[in-house]
Amino acid sequence: MSPYTIAVIGGDGIGREVIREGVKVLEAVAGRGLALTFEEAEMGAELYRRTGEDLPRETFDLCQRTDAILFGAAGLPDVRFPDGTEIAPQVTLRFRLELYAGVRPIKLYPGVPSPLRLPAGRTIDYVIFRENTEGLFASRGGGAAVGREVAADTLIVTRKGTDRIARRAFEAALGRRRRLTCVDKSNVFRSYLFFREVVQEVGTEFPEVTLDGAYVDAMAMYVVQRPWAYDVVVVENQFGDILSDLGAATVGGLGMAPSGDIGDRWALFQPSHGTAPDIAGKGVANPTAMILSAALMLRWLGDRHKDPTAAAAGDRIEAAVAEVLVAGGTLTPDIGGRASTAALGDAVASAL
Ligand code: ATP
Repeated sequence: MSPYTIAVIGGDGIGREVIREGVKVLEAVAGRGLALTFEEAEMGAELYRRTGEDLPRETFDLCQRTDAILFGAAGLPDVRFPDGTEIAPQVTLRFRLELYAGVRPIKLYPGVPSPLRLPAGRTIDYVIFRENTEGLFASRGGGAAVGREVAADTLIVTRKGTDRIARRAFEAALGRRRRLTCVDKSNVFRSYLFFREVVQEVGTEFPEVTLDGAYVDAMAMYVVQRPWAYDVVVVENQFGDILSDLGAATVGGLGMAPSGDIGDRWALFQPSHGTAPDIAGKGVANPTAMILSAALMLRWLGDRHKDPTAAAAGDRIEAAVAEVLVAGGTLTPDIGGRASTAALGDAVASAL
């Protein structure tokens, strides 16, 4: 139960700009039985450039001792580890804190332009459950390079890893439209066939949920042609990474796509986008994905601590966001307006 302590980590680029709006909105929704305190910490590429560390011990400790982690974005194109890979401490946290469920709602809000022309009465509202700790990302920091001639990364699928993400996805489907789609490439790779088989096995425990499957290449087409057909999607790490950006594009872009990286003990909430160096420092980043991630965080706290006040506060944030988006006066440029990051955040806070 509240008070909840939230670790607040802006990171790099627009991460630092949008997180201010996330905190602003959380401060506006607090009170009436919900107490929140915030503790700030640093991680990311800028910090690495300055100190040689991207995820310092104090930040990791803070993440472990607080009730939830609110995160902006990290990584800068010109700051790299010696092996040439990008600084991504948020991915390190997924592994170290076992945040195995990447929960990515793809939802079109009235007032937000979609590049798709949807038939009357249809909308987009599904959730991707991306396996977050294995798949192709299991090779991160490993992989093999033989001179300048050969390089290899290995895709790992385990029963434990697939079972737990499948279970989360089926549970979510139970609270929604009771339909789950397993996305893979099981017609070609043994690893993906195994993924699908384990999902099917878990499905026998959820007879109320209708399970179907789609190959990832076809799915890339279906989420453009008939996105309304989907409810919950469960998918391996790398494919989930790609499908969630594709899904975000259909609902107004990355600025509209929140996410939660959730484990059994800890959880981190962040917009699906990265640091967007092209617009950083201009005050025009869309904070909606960040604000909706804060709403997901409150719902998760509500669920975990059996605290309906926290869950209701999450719902109130989403309702305030929807109200501001449909009103249209304070939209950022990426969704067709001219307002600043702060103006959109202010509008959501005052709607609350
Ligand atoms: P990463 O690989 O680090 O997750 P990404 O591939 O998701 O990053 P971003 O840099 O986040 O890439 O975003 C790609 C582009 O989308 C940005 O350059 C920017 O133009 C746009 N974009 C992303 N987030 C936002 C936002 N919140 N508001 C407006 N535009 C955004």
